[in-house]
Amino acid sequence: MKPRENVPLKELNTFGVDARARYLLDIDTCENLAGCLEGYYSGNLPLLILGGGSNILFTGDYHGWIVLVNTKGIGILKEDSSHVWVRAEAGEVWDDLVEYALARGYGGLENLICIPGKVGASPIQNIGAYGVEMKDRFHSLQAYDIHEKKTRTFLKEDCRFGYRDSIFKRELQGRFLITSVVFKLDKHPRVHTSYGIVAEQLRENKVSDPGIRDVAEAIAAIRSRKLPDPDDLGNAGSFFKNPVISGGVYARLKLQYPDIPGYRLPAGDVKIPAAWLIDRCGFKGFRKGEAGVHEFQPLVLVNHGKATGRDILALGDSIRSAVWERFGIRLDREVWVV
Ligand SMILES: Cc1cc2nc3c(=O)[nH]c(=O)nc-3n(C[C@H](O)[C@H](O)[C@H](O)COP(=O)(O)OP(=O)(O)OC[C@H]3O[C@@H](n4cnc5c(N)ncnc54)[C@H](O)[C@@H]3O)c2cc1C
Repeated sequence: MKPRENVPLKELNTFGVDARARYLLDIDTCENLAGCLEGYYSGNLPLLILGGGSNILFTGDYHGWIVLVNTKGIGILKEDSSHVWVRAEAGEVWDDLVEYALARGYGGLENLICIPGKVGASPIQNIGAYGVEMKDRFHSLQAYDIHEKKTRTFLKEDCRFGYRDSIFKRELQGRFLITSVVFKLDKHPRVHTSYGIVAEQLRENKVSDPGIRDVAEAIAAIRSRKLPDPDDLGNAGSFFKNPVISGGVYARLKLQYPDIPGYRLPAGDVKIPAAWLIDRCGFKGFRKGEAGVHEFQPLVLVNHGKATGRDILALGDSIRSAVWERFGIRLDREVWVV
């Protein structure tokens, strides 16, 4: 657990971008986490916490400390006749937690199967997929305050979760190291199959009365068809968030682009698929040097092999400008740029 110097990060980010960290500290025991950090990190250089590196873009070497969270452990905190409270350490692989729940018949995480990364990062952007967000199953988390050097518990309302958003991406950015997360799961699960494509896949799998395992298998199949595997083609999933615009702006755009898709939100705003906007600007399958846009999913930027973080960022910026010029809609990045 001693820090290493000048460490290559290529294998530690799913874009597969070549960069180096000045210092890297790999933490694998929860008991010693605070002591370990305090023992080595004096606060005079920047510090970045890294999980699976699946939502991050390094645009150069990191001239500070990277703390790699590898703490393990999943267990039941308490249960009653209908729910179970499961606690997972931050360094657990997210999909191992999903499998833990599936194997025991606990419902709630099945729609979030196959999302890369670690448990500790899941609250940062409130991961979500196929109609379910992590916040729907979140109970609380423990985090270490890097400034104050003490541990704090956050309940759901403290985290201010939103669409791919939380307090940890805003006011408390970079201040807390999440050490463990507690999820409240169902012992008598009701599945969520409201997404058309999930229902379709279940029909194709000839499942008429799906359980959580059926839903997980259907979603895993859809994801493996639609998304590139970072082991084959470097990427960090969706590069942009789906923009939300007012109902009035949507109505005006609809006159000009009758086929523009939109999902009306309860407050009257409309969420537009960023993939559609990017596709309409002609970027699907586009390639500039080693950086590119995925041929089937234009929301995913890819590294064809030797792209630098700056190449990928520049491509992202061209896409943002094109979407702004054509539709007057601003795209916000989902990926964390360092
Ligand atoms: C192929 C692919 C598909 C994806 N699909 C989805 C999807 O469907 N839905 C979705 O929401 N996301 C998706 N993602 C994005 C990504 O998987 C998630 O954002 C994931 O939660 C990132 O986890 P990580 O451990 O890799 O985080 P990292 O990339 O290591 O870090 C992301 C951010 O979290 C911070 N962080 C990490 N761990 C901690 C911690 N313990 N304490 C404090 N801060 C921390 C980092 O500093 C950084 O700011 C996808 C990515 C890929 C590559």
